Amino acid sequence: MLDRTRLTALLARERATFEDRHPRSAAAYARADHLFGRVPMTWMNKSAAGFPIHLDRARGARVSDIDGHEYIDFCLGDTAAMAGHSPAPVVEAVTRRLAELGGASTMLPTEEAAAVGAELARRFGLPHWSFTLTATDANRWAIRLLRAVTGRPRILVNSYCYHGSVDESLIVVGPDGQARSREGNVGAPYDVTQTSRVAEFNDLEGLARELAHGDVAVVLMEPALTNIGIVLPEPGYLAGVRELTREHGTYLINDETHTFSAGPGGATAAWGLDPDVVTIGKAIGGGIPVGAYGLSAAVSAALSGRTDLDLVDMGGVGGTLAGNPLSLTATRATLEQVLTDAAFAGMIEVATDFATGTQKIIDEYGLPWSVNQLGARVEYRFVSPAPRTGGESAAHADADLEDYLHAYLANRGILLIPFHNMALMCPQTTTDDVARHHEAFADALGELIG
Ligand code: PMP
Repeated sequence: MLDRTRLTALLARERATFEDRHPRSAAAYARADHLFGRVPMTWMNKSAAGFPIHLDRARGARVSDIDGHEYIDFCLGDTAAMAGHSPAPVVEAVTRRLAELGGASTMLPTEEAAAVGAELARRFGLPHWSFTLTATDANRWAIRLLRAVTGRPRILVNSYCYHGSVDESLIVVGPDGQARSREGNVGAPYDVTQTSRVAEFNDLEGLARELAHGDVAVVLMEPALTNIGIVLPEPGYLAGVRELTREHGTYLINDETHTFSAGPGGATAAWGLDPDVVTIGKAIGGGIPVGAYGLSAAVSAALSGRTDLDLVDMGGVGGTLAGNPLSLTATRATLEQVLTDAAFAGMIEVATDFATGTQKIIDEYGLPWSVNQLGARVEYRFVSPAPRTGGESAAHADADLEDYLHAYLANRGILLIPFHNMALMCPQTTTDDVARHHEAFADALGELIG
């Protein structure tokens, strides 16, 4: 059992240290009167210490703040910078497009777009690709297309999933086992239990029960949950999902936005999965906004055969900036030169070191915590054995403990992914960086446990 009084005192101390160390960030925050919530986006107020550090520069696995501190960045823009910050091939390609060729947004295709489509097809095994600016939009558009193809109204997601701000995905299994709107679903446009169904991850019985209603167009899922800690699939679960979706005439989307950390073709390639659609975003642009969705030959044929669908005019989703030359030149450079097969091998090796060392320290302190790894991504969770479902994982969140660890590490030059205890490796992350995390993590536990 943790000594909560000690935790409260240590958290207060770390917050005070954070405040002392960041006078310029604090002042910048205080001055930002014309930003709603004092930040460019309200979620940036998710800070272990009361206000966010303000960025000065970022390169590779390092970021520096305006107070002059440098950090080993295991956050990496929550995957948007999994290629490392400003990788040279991306900077070069983007600069050439902007400065030499011109035309960041033209409403015209480039030859590069086809190269990106071909590379994504090679990696994920789906032949036809379209682009958006965010993974959220890739999911929204893919859902619409599959509702159109099936004529079915609903989608199904896993409890405590995250697929971006997709209205239909904000649903959980409540304590009574019934579906309900997820807490924090601000300004919900409708009752989500009317548009969506939900099953716990790793629960094939629950999935079968929900699909039996016959009204689910598509199951939208991550092959491993990554937004409520990492919840890994049990043996046979993903094969069972594929079997059940086929049996019930329901399509399957693998959202690879985060599970891309599993390898060059995400979990889809690493685990030999066979989805109808893959959605992705963030990392593939090397820091430049882009999202993408890939369709199986059957889905694209079914869509192309439908003369009643407005896929060319206003259609329902899309966006003037989608598929713009800047995003696609960045994506091509990222895929061809940065997040290569060799880079993934190195990142996964470093992540394995992170996971093994973290578990060892946890064990040394006799804590009932667990560590999960998904390729280049590692998460520690305050429960052992590791949770099997999103609901179980959500039940073991501990906001103060999490804030303490985040603030403690930040004060010692280490950034984790906010919202949970997750660390991501980029091609420049080294085992020395990992060792520095381990040292600070062991110190944090030492002070807490004694
Ligand atoms: N899918 C998954 C699995 C995600 O984790 C996220 C964001 N964390 C998204 C989609 C949405 O990405 P974006 O915010 O870039 O639209």
